[in-house]
Amino acid sequence: MTPDRADGSGMPHPTYSFVIPVLDEIDSLPRLRQRLQAVMDRMDGPCEVVLVDDGSTDGSWDALVAMHGEDPRFKVLRLSRNFGHQTALTAGLDHATGDAAIIIDADLQDPPEVALEMSEKWRQGYDVVYAVRDARDGESWFKRFTAHRFYRLLSRLSEIDIPRDAGDFRLVDRRAIDAVTAMREHRRYLRGMFAWVGYEQAAVHYHRDARQAGTTKFSLRKMIAFATDGVLSFSAVPLRLILNFGFLIAMSAFVAGLSSIVLKAAGVYTVPGWASIVVAISLLGGLQLVVLGVIGEYVARLHEEVKQRPLYLVRDHAGVDLDRQPDRPRRAGLPDSPAESP
Ligand code: UDP
Ligand code: MG
Repeated sequence: MTPDRADGSGMPHPTYSFVIPVLDEIDSLPRLRQRLQAVMDRMDGPCEVVLVDDGSTDGSWDALVAMHGEDPRFKVLRLSRNFGHQTALTAGLDHATGDAAIIIDADLQDPPEVALEMSEKWRQGYDVVYAVRDARDGESWFKRFTAHRFYRLLSRLSEIDIPRDAGDFRLVDRRAIDAVTAMREHRRYLRGMFAWVGYEQAAVHYHRDARQAGTTKFSLRKMIAFATDGVLSFSAVPLRLILNFGFLIAMSAFVAGLSSIVLKAAGVYTVPGWASIVVAISLLGGLQLVVLGVIGEYVARLHEEVKQRPLYLVRDHAGVDLDRQPDRPRRAGLPDSPAESP
């Protein structure tokens, strides 16, 4: 499918790009490298690996540079600070040159060998081949339970069909990569964005292993923030929900008012209790705060997007072509940024 077109580096044009975010994974890297090299030898085309250091502080960057020195198929990029998993993945996709990209975690929870199966599906013509977890080892029942519930909730809330129990581990065709990297929204929920793209999608099933080394980089707080992004970026249902709730409250207030008039007219009206008033006021006050909060969540997202900041900044790199970064012309202070007309 891909001619062996040599670029400047003398390497063949890669058919597959493995895209891997790395945050403090020094203990995983040697094993990751071994497993990847074995898989790359078995793939049906030339491969590259784009590793994105998302602000590691444990020496991962030096290990990555050494990896590039020993095997130039490993291309490495260092962001200026920690931008988060989804943004690091985006940076990797921006700089991947293959005809297809395989998104994978550095901790070997996603077995790289599944890529062989994914590439088969891709050859059959599928644009997005996502991996569905049949089992998750080494994760607490709490994480499994909440993840399970969350994916079901999200698919009920959002209009597009986001595959359940699928993480970011997937193979994506060039046209899906180009579509998603062209979307420069800041709150990125990549699995949703790849579902939004459409085209032909297929699933492969796999067994999610336990982490090989190190600890998870996702605290409960980060997980909740990520889940909130998923819902708010792909659904206006929370807004509609509070609207309906507001209607319900207003209707019951109307009914209560009407019945109190009727009761008074009928003469059965007794001493007006202040309790009912306090309850009504605090209920409405609380509701208004909830409503404002939900609207505020959407407004904050609008504010963030309107600023149009670049998604990330690159601090260092080895082996990657920086011109591929779609943000680049907009970044201030760069020689090739076009002068703004007044
Ligand atoms: N990661 C990252 N930036 C972050 C958090 C995580 O690049 O802010 C990387 C991390 O190094 C790993 C992948 O994203 O390769 C998934 O993270 P982790 O394994 O901690 O998540 P979990 O599997 O526990 O959900
Ligand atoms: Mg992990």
